[in-house]
Amino acid sequence: MLHDALAPLGISSSTDPLDLDAARRDLWPRATLELRDGRLPASPSAVAWPRSAHDVATLLQLAQRLGVPVVPYGAGSGVCGGAAGHEDALVIDLKRMNRLLGIDPHRGVAWAQPGLLGQHLEDLLARRGWRTAHSPSSIACSTVGGWAAARSAGQFSSRYGTFDDMMLAAAVETPTGRRLLGAWTPTGKPDLLPLISGSEGTLGVFTDVAMRIVPLAQRRWLRGLALPGLRQAWELMRALMQEGPAPFVLRLYDPIDTRIGGPARAARKAKAGPQSGSPLLERLRAAVERVPALREHLLELPLALPRLINRIADNLGGEEVLLVVGYDGTDAEVEAAVAQVAPLLEAGRDLGPDPGEHWHAHRHEVSYKLAPVFAGGAWADTMEVASTWSRLPALHEAVRAALGETTAVMAHFSHAYREGCSIYFSFAGRGGVEVYDATWAAGLKAAAAAGGTVTHHHGVGQLKAQAATREAAAAIRIWRDARQNLDPTGILNPGRLFDGDLPHAAGPPPPQGGPLFDLDPVDRLARVDARAPAPALQAALAATGHRLRLPVDRPLLAWLQAWRKGHLDPTEAPLFAVQARFPDGVAAAVGPAPRSAAGPDLRWGLLDAATVEWVQVPILPLDGQAAAPVAPQGPEPACLPPETAAWTD
Ligand SMILES: Cc1cc2nc3c(=O)[nH]c(=O)nc-3n(C[C@H](O)[C@H](O)[C@H](O)COP(=O)(O)OP(=O)(O)OC[C@H]3O[C@@H](n4cnc5c(N)ncnc54)[C@H](O)[C@@H]3O)c2cc1C
Repeated sequence: MLHDALAPLGISSSTDPLDLDAARRDLWPRATLELRDGRLPASPSAVAWPRSAHDVATLLQLAQRLGVPVVPYGAGSGVCGGAAGHEDALVIDLKRMNRLLGIDPHRGVAWAQPGLLGQHLEDLLARRGWRTAHSPSSIACSTVGGWAAARSAGQFSSRYGTFDDMMLAAAVETPTGRRLLGAWTPTGKPDLLPLISGSEGTLGVFTDVAMRIVPLAQRRWLRGLALPGLRQAWELMRALMQEGPAPFVLRLYDPIDTRIGGPARAARKAKAGPQSGSPLLERLRAAVERVPALREHLLELPLALPRLINRIADNLGGEEVLLVVGYDGTDAEVEAAVAQVAPLLEAGRDLGPDPGEHWHAHRHEVSYKLAPVFAGGAWADTMEVASTWSRLPALHEAVRAALGETTAVMAHFSHAYREGCSIYFSFAGRGGVEVYDATWAAGLKAAAAAGGTVTHHHGVGQLKAQAATREAAAAIRIWRDARQNLDPTGILNPGRLFDGDLPHAAGPPPPQGGPLFDLDPVDRLARVDARAPAPALQAALAATGHRLRLPVDRPLLAWLQAWRKGHLDPTEAPLFAVQARFPDGVAAAVGPAPRSAAGPDLRWGLLDAATVEWVQVPILPLDGQAAAPVAPQGPEPACLPPETAAWTD
């Protein structure tokens, strides 16, 4: 039926089993595990390849009329099962909407269609002297629309922000019509950009995206530093983020990753000289790689005894860890940054540029080495969580212990911000989906209990639906109300993102006192009454030796409600967390990190839809360097470029 209905539309589509196979799953390792064990995910009924926003609208209308579920599909690089597994669905594969529509060099903005692959976008921009500086490991196999829909973060997010920070405006098609978001929001209408970005295809289909771009870097400066342990390294990372100009790279490897990871090998080589590698070991490694049976058995033993392996790894020789730090930009910017942070960097032993350059050269390669692991009877996956600096050690310990019950685990810390940082766990185990599911359930539970967000940049999909639901709690009402408005018949990626009933419990109690409820000098955050007059709030903070990081000219709540993305440097996060109460007395507290990918950013919707009880905002010591004053409004709305104005090179 779907096939017959698609034919007259004049939009390319297929029901060929090969095309359906290609669209039935993304790169969720659980699906790979099932595939290896002979189980196929559910198949869609048809795939369509629209070429324009108008085509997308036509497809949505058809699906709505027929009551067919729709799965928007970028490049399928998602690792959580977001674009996968709907029986009888229509997959809208956006890869033929792959044009760069234009750039505005005066504003530093580029417009692109959603199906443009990341690397193609960078190549097109680079020819004109620009880049996004969004550098996800999946840059060769992910799309602009996928970045927007799943709140992606690239490897340079400490300086240039996550894709959420970069995206200035967007257009989406929904079953109830086209919506313009961000800087394109029509005057007087609420801005739905924070809500639709990260909605993973459940609220609309991105058809145009405007993003911030920056000039190509003239210069890159990278250093490896050896530090005596994780705690010293975290301190240095926090100081670099809070005191200095933001580095474009700040990556810390835990002791085991330091010993076996690629940059660490480069560090050892730099330390010991070029003759340090053992030819015997290298020959052994090459022999094992060549013989599959040997490779399988090599994996079998250690992964059968993960706790032992983790313990051996812990005792492999000291606590020393590798930190890679880097600055890029113009010659003058890099020189000034390096001069400013030089005293801080003295905390570590200088390993020279090699570890960083090695990482930079191979930064998009590492994640493609999983096939032999699955073929060898094991499985591997990654989990990226985030928290404030003060919760980071507990988060690391809790998640590592939970994952380490069933898998061999290592971690690195990247995506650092002023308030906190993300932890990226890589783990490998044996067994089927039961072990896989139990491992993930334990890891996600541990992350939530330690006060972290359950995902920093991989998104939710099916894998983290329950965990994201628990994290968002009653704030999910904001998403559900938007869904009823934008997609009343629920055809868009049904059953994804948030899972389970909405919580009915009253939620956290209202705070007492104010206007300052508490202050965290380590993470430089304060929980305050956002309705308090600005002078009263400033006085309360001054009494503790602090002030608001972003100066306000009116009550904080009014300032935040008027705020629009895009006018701040991407390193600034004006709102960290919020608690608000709905009219029926149910409260929701949304944190714990501004850079979370656990679904849409519900904090901004809460400011408007419920009575705000507190907000947590960035502060700095009175003698700290203030951020430049900012007006809450965003940039002038830019016009949508005509779809025909694309470059063809
Ligand atoms: C090797 C590897 C490395 C990775 N490294 C990173 C990394 O460094 N940083 C990072 O953030 N992620 C990373 N990922 C995860 C993944 O690349 C990101 O989630 C990416 O944003 C997905 O983009 P995609 O185009 O492949 O989207 P898909 O996987 O096709 O879709 C992802 C979700 O978005 C929805 N969607 C896709 N396009 C649209 C659209 N136009 N409109 C509405 N909804 C849409 C889908 O329905 C789905 O729910 C990595 C994945 C792999 C396999």
